Amino acid sequence: KSILVRDLADKMKINTTELISKLITLGVMANQNQELDFDTALLIADEFGFNVKLKETNVIDNNLESLDYEDKEEDLIPRPPVVTVMGHVDHGKTSTLDAIRNTRVTKSEAGGITQHIGASTININGQKVVFLDTPGHEAFTAMRARGANITDITVLVVAADDGIMPQTVEAINHSKNAGVEIIVAINKMDKEGANPDRIKQELTEYGLVPEDWGGDTITVPISAKKNEGIDELLEMILMVAEMQEYKANPNRKAVGTIIEAKLDKGKGPVATVLVQKGTLKFGDAVVSGCVSGKIRAMFDDKGKSVKKAKPSIPVQILGLSDVPESGDKIYVVDDEKIARNIAQKEQDKAKEEKVKKQENLSLDALFDSIKDGSVKDLNLVIKTDVKGTIDAVANSLLKLSNEEVKVNIIHSGVGGISESDVLLASTSNAIIIGFNVRPGVVAEKAAKDQGVEIKTYRVIYDAIDDIKNAINGMLKPVY
Ligand code: GDP
Repeated sequence: KSILVRDLADKMKINTTELISKLITLGVMANQNQELDFDTALLIADEFGFNVKLKETNVIDNNLESLDYEDKEEDLIPRPPVVTVMGHVDHGKTSTLDAIRNTRVTKSEAGGITQHIGASTININGQKVVFLDTPGHEAFTAMRARGANITDITVLVVAADDGIMPQTVEAINHSKNAGVEIIVAINKMDKEGANPDRIKQELTEYGLVPEDWGGDTITVPISAKKNEGIDELLEMILMVAEMQEYKANPNRKAVGTIIEAKLDKGKGPVATVLVQKGTLKFGDAVVSGCVSGKIRAMFDDKGKSVKKAKPSIPVQILGLSDVPESGDKIYVVDDEKIARNIAQKEQDKAKEEKVKKQENLSLDALFDSIKDGSVKDLNLVIKTDVKGTIDAVANSLLKLSNEEVKVNIIHSGVGGISESDVLLASTSNAIIIGFNVRPGVVAEKAAKDQGVEIKTYRVIYDAIDDIKNAINGMLKPVY
């Protein structure tokens, strides 16, 4: 916070000797290479009619949270919706995405080859909609687990000849938990056994009551294979977007989320960023987790070089020091030095947090939180070997709610404990309860990384006992 005499003279566009003589009259003996502290500089500048301000490059105070500030309502303008296609395997997620892309290739784009950057921008009558390319919920959940809620709308694909399946249920629960709008695409309508009414009936069992049945869930019959109903589906997406009024402020330093990242042999680290706030520009200094850099090149989903990207727009960027984590946020900062500094701090913080996370979410920790009143909800994910057990377990556990603690079952299903279950539990601060099922190796590792507790039981009674004890504050260590 000091300035050289000659630099100050330069800034005020006056002669150095003039400045020195002024300093002398003020009792400061100085030569042109002398450093003036902030107060002296302020005083002397004032003498010449200038106003000195301390530049806000205080690196120490720059942290990621402060970069992601909320915008004022009046600065927000409409942005395109971001859509994810989800559903059970083989119900037609990929086909639906392809159908959407193909119907909407405009003449000017037709020549360009779609690049796989993890998301694509579709034009519908001059309005943009952004689709995340990775169908399925793994990517979606992984991002949510990292706190990134980047989707506005879920297109839930359900095969009309099949029905609601385990992954459909997961998709519903994930979307609901994330507060994402759901549009149901009843697919494979061309097939012999297609029965949309049965699908609608099943949807109601999961709290999704179709509009034509008096509810507010939009359902659209489609055939991805025959390219039927796709326009209607897109119309519905636009309608939901219009109702929800998705907005962002394009006039600020950009904040986005990494949706894909890899190391390219020739180009070095490449990452796809979905811009969420502000406008990302060529030359911006950026930081994402422990990675920093300066944007050397930027491409859109058609592989075209672009100079900037507004909110909701996915772009691939080059110029990062390393490969960032997908799901991590990326922030624009004043300069590269600040970016490096923050990245370093994040690295230190990550080390500390890793230690802390191990202690998260155990029944014991939960019991402590209940005791000190900081937890009011006990969230559970339940997996069982047979369907019949789910209801029995759920009902008994839900009954354990009392005035202080509410038991919530955020997801239940048949089958082994999956990575997706763990990620869901992690984002919802839940504990996983398994009956006669075990986590797989991947899920087990994920649970360890995320600090999620998995408790497996053979007898319902034991589980109820454990939870009851936790709630009543009498948890004894039974392992
Ligand atoms: P995903 O696993 O959900 O991504 O499903 P895919 O898009 O890969 O589709 C699974 C299978 O269903 C493929 O063999 C598709 O050709 C078929 N399929 C997808 N949509 C339709 C459709 O509308 N009608 C018919 N008859 N088959 C479809």
